[in-house]
Amino acid sequence: MTRSLTLLGATGSIGASTLDLVRRNRGEWQVEALTANGSAAELAALAIEFDAKLAVVGDEACLPELRAALAGSGVTAAGGRQALVEAAQHPVDMTVAAIVGCAGLAPVMAAVERGGTIALANKEALVSAGEVLMEAVAKHGATLLPTDSEHNAIFQCLQGNRIADVAKITLTASGGPLRTWTQAELDAATPAEAVAHPNWSMGAKISVDSATMMNKGLEYIEAYHLFPVGLEKLGIVVHPQSVIHSMVEFHDRSTLAQLGPSDMRVPIASCLAWPQRMETPLAPLDLAAIGQLTFEAPNEVLFPATRLAREAIAAGGSAPAILNAANEVAVAAFLAGQIRFTRIAALVEETLARSNDAPRPASLDEVLEVDRSARRQALSLLENNALV
Ligand code: NDP
Repeated sequence: MTRSLTLLGATGSIGASTLDLVRRNRGEWQVEALTANGSAAELAALAIEFDAKLAVVGDEACLPELRAALAGSGVTAAGGRQALVEAAQHPVDMTVAAIVGCAGLAPVMAAVERGGTIALANKEALVSAGEVLMEAVAKHGATLLPTDSEHNAIFQCLQGNRIADVAKITLTASGGPLRTWTQAELDAATPAEAVAHPNWSMGAKISVDSATMMNKGLEYIEAYHLFPVGLEKLGIVVHPQSVIHSMVEFHDRSTLAQLGPSDMRVPIASCLAWPQRMETPLAPLDLAAIGQLTFEAPNEVLFPATRLAREAIAAGGSAPAILNAANEVAVAAFLAGQIRFTRIAALVEETLARSNDAPRPASLDEVLEVDRSARRQALSLLENNALV
């Protein structure tokens, strides 16, 4: 039996991993819609290859290019923010949400509101709109399958267990490519150095987030919403080998961990096949060859992002959405060569300090307004050179 699939963010790293699995199992999937932002030619090629019904570019200026590339193919082309939302509204068996950033929030919400099954990679959507999104999931009977490797690991460890029996959830962090660097070295880190992750091949934004440890901070907030155990039961440990993807300890002091190759096709396959399993083309885990699994506490002096995220989710209100928005602005500025690596967390902290008195957003529109306002604040700090 074939299942229908919409892939939001088809031209990205998660998109490519998802389509690799679909390509290997073509008979099992009917691709409904594929989306991108501006990569029109790449999107068109994928839409034709996968015989999609619809291809959407978020950047409306790229629609003519998409239309031209799809001429005569039978694939419908669309463009713009609303077209992304409409693509997510089409009924399908599985939506993979892999847009990067808060830009993915409105389409994710649209998929949630039709009660769909959503493999959620787009962590920024959950960080910005945690309560609003989780309330909508409950109200509309949607199914969220955590696709982030850590949350997918926790999800797997929780199968057959009661959340009430959880003593602690520990997110593992590789520590990123700059884990052992000194303060002076971090100050001078270049974008190329920050995105050169030792274990994972990922898009630029999440690679920088891994280097600053903000990725783990965002994941901490994500875990808080996905697994309702309370903040005091959430922890982070640095595990440079990225073999254990996260762990759950229960009251009897049993700890379950999920291990696997550091390849996103593992958690994506777990979501696509859920509640069953599917084959992936990956080599078996060879623990003897890996030799050692090591662990260390996060260094929050050199990498303050996890502290900022912990404080933001503890403060609640609009703080997580502000944290996320400021981080998106800061990472983009770092990648564009406008600020130093160590100023990313500083810009987030300063933006939070200047705008963190807003109440908890109660709707999608309110979240998006908090997001816009925090971006304006962060950009004005940048423009004033206040932190460079
Ligand atoms: P990429 O940057 O590789 O891909 C992002 C995708 O989103 C592309 O298809 C891009 O289109 C699209 N996109 C970007 N901006 C917009 C926008 N404004 N509107 C609509 N679409 C947009 O990111 P990743 O695949 O690395 O990450 C995707 C999400 O998954 C992120 O939230 C990330 O944190 C999360 N994640 C990623 C992991 C990984 O291994 N990569 C691991 C765990 C989570 P275009 O090509 O046209 O720009």
